[in-house]
Amino acid sequence: MTSATVVDAGRPVSDDRHWKIRLKEFLEGRQPRGKGEDRLAWARAFHADLEEAGLAAPGWPVEVGGMGLELADQLDYHQMMTRARAPKHPCGLSFIVAPTLITHGTAEQKQRFLRPLLRADEFWCQGFSEPSAGSDLTSLTTRAECEGDHYVVNGQKLWTSQAHLADWMFALVRTGPAGPGGAGISYLLIPMKSEGVTVRPLRDISGGTHFSEVFLDDVRVPAENLVGEENDGWSIARTSLGHERATAFLSDEFRYRRIVDELFTLAVRTGAAEDPFVRQHLARIEASVRVLASNSRRALDAVLSGRDPGPAASVNRLVKSEFEQYLHEVALRVVGPDAVLGQREATAPERGRWTFGYLMSRAATVGAGTAEIQRNTIAEKVLGLPSHRGVGGTAKKES
Ligand SMILES: Cc1cc2nc3c(=O)[nH]c(=O)nc-3n(C[C@H](O)[C@H](O)[C@H](O)COP(=O)(O)OP(=O)(O)OC[C@H]3O[C@@H](n4cnc5c(N)ncnc54)[C@H](O)[C@@H]3O)c2cc1C
Repeated sequence: MTSATVVDAGRPVSDDRHWKIRLKEFLEGRQPRGKGEDRLAWARAFHADLEEAGLAAPGWPVEVGGMGLELADQLDYHQMMTRARAPKHPCGLSFIVAPTLITHGTAEQKQRFLRPLLRADEFWCQGFSEPSAGSDLTSLTTRAECEGDHYVVNGQKLWTSQAHLADWMFALVRTGPAGPGGAGISYLLIPMKSEGVTVRPLRDISGGTHFSEVFLDDVRVPAENLVGEENDGWSIARTSLGHERATAFLSDEFRYRRIVDELFTLAVRTGAAEDPFVRQHLARIEASVRVLASNSRRALDAVLSGRDPGPAASVNRLVKSEFEQYLHEVALRVVGPDAVLGQREATAPERGRWTFGYLMSRAATVGAGTAEIQRNTIAEKVLGLPSHRGVGGTAKKES
């Protein structure tokens, strides 16, 4: 078992009881979200308190404010949080930039950014995609020119999730000439409140504005906000997330298990479970959620035996994104004709959550790398087929 001593961003938490006891107590002491209470503010307050109690970031090293738990304990942690219906951290993108900062950031960067990020005091957005750089991200053209102690950034980012809420953007910018292997790209932390940053929200299929286009016009960014070496941003962005990645799958596994159980309950309540057609699909969903769980275990097994979970992770990402869509297609059948009522309709069954989930799940096979790109990765890295780029012959196969 892992030691119960937990430090809060370098300061010891006085309560040294086992973390499970403290987390249980913490979760039991939380009020559910009140009627009319703002979901975002509620989630932010939850995560600030969690951090304050030394109960945030189970997988992070203790030196940077995490709990330093072993993997088995991290699993228990995610399970306890899911069972208690704890709100997810309201800025999921924080957990993409954080491992990068932990691995490549300076001591000052870690000190400055990690705690506010964990507490959800500061939000992050990811400035990678551009109008003509998506799947082929290395063709990005947003430029950052070094002028002494600062960079001047010019360009445009697109599909930037949560940009309208973000305090910071972790961005890939061009600082040198394009070349093979993502040459000439740097990883820069841009304050979103800077002069020259314009955020223009884009309306999505659900009617909401979850992502934006971001214009960067002569934005001055302190040079100390560069992560790692100049022109080394591509390899930094591709840093394997190792444990983080594997445990993220596991928390998804618990979440999907809960959502699927809720769907089954709904199917029984509405009588949809009597329909032989729907039953076939529900059984398939059950099988899929178990496959996902097995894949997560494979990723975990890779991590535990010191291997990169890369291949298992690519397969899992693809299976997960397609499962997400299938699950919601079936959910709409279970809800029936009322599924046309969206979240904003007062009479929508279960506050329109299944309809909203269905609409949002359309993006599951696009965001963070499309299903086709994931298939390319599996073909090349898992099956060892020739590169789709047609150069270099056979791709290196990962086991
Ligand atoms: C909900 C959502 C949120 C997002 N949030 C962010 C964010 O916060 N930050 C960010 O930087 N980006 C974000 N994105 C952008 C996302 O990463 C890109 O949409 C994605 O990488 C695809 O790029 P693209 O849209 O330019 O499509 P393209 O790359 O132009 O692709 C178009 C089509 O061609 C196919 N294709 C392209 N290349 C190949 C190939 N080599 N082989 C086979 N097929 C290929 C693709 O699969 C796709 O079907 C988000 C996207 C969505 C949907």
